[in-house]
Amino acid sequence: MSESEFTIPQYMSASSSEDEEQAVQPKVVPTHKTWELKSAYESAEDAEAWINSQGIWTKGKCNDTNAGVKQYYRCNKEHARGKQCAAAVFLLYHADDFGVSAFCHWSGT
Ligand SMILES: [Zn+2]
Repeated sequence: MSESEFTIPQYMSASSSEDEEQAVQPKVVPTHKTWELKSAYESAEDAEAWINSQGIWTKGKCNDTNAGVKQYYRCNKEHARGKQCAAAVFLLYHADDFGVSAFCHWSGT
């Protein structure tokens, strides 16, 4: 009796098709991202030069915070169809000096 309860029927392993459905839906980027300090720059010019040299970032939203202005960028690279790219970066224009910090996020990869 108890042994059969531990046997998982094969039709239960439908999780893979669920994942595919989720990938197709254009999901809102979660707000609980983990941001990693990538590098710091002495000026906005240096930071933006780095952004441009990457060639994959499209300017996104802009946030005014106590620490300074945060300018977000999202990945515009060509990806497999239907795949949502979670790679993102933002530049923090320091409120108290001319420095700029670059923060990156890559989801799982
Ligand atoms: Zn990407």
